[in-house]
Amino acid sequence: MAGKTKTCKRCGADKPLAEFTKVSRNADGLNIWCRPCVKIRSAELKAAKEFHETVKTAKVQKIPPAKKTLTREQKDAANARAKAKRDEAREMRAAAMEASK
Ligand SMILES: [Zn+2]
Repeated sequence: MAGKTKTCKRCGADKPLAEFTKVSRNADGLNIWCRPCVKIRSAELKAAKEFHETVKTAKVQKIPPAKKTLTREQKDAANARAKAKRDEAREMRAAAMEASK
């Protein structure tokens, strides 16, 4: 058996202990993730942070919201939904009247 290994909690690979960075607060003194995973994770965090900053900047610039214009199809669909709701309510009232007779 060649040296001790540890399973990375992120990629699940069995890797030699040298592949894990030292973390004194952990029980075995090693990171739960292997070096490549830690690297990927920090890159992800950096990307996420940059994305948030972009969003923040966009908000500060107060980009006016796009004018809310419904297409003909959207209007028709909304009208159809409203009509269906009205019809349903009418039927329920009629049924209730019928039941109370
Ligand atoms: Zn890993």
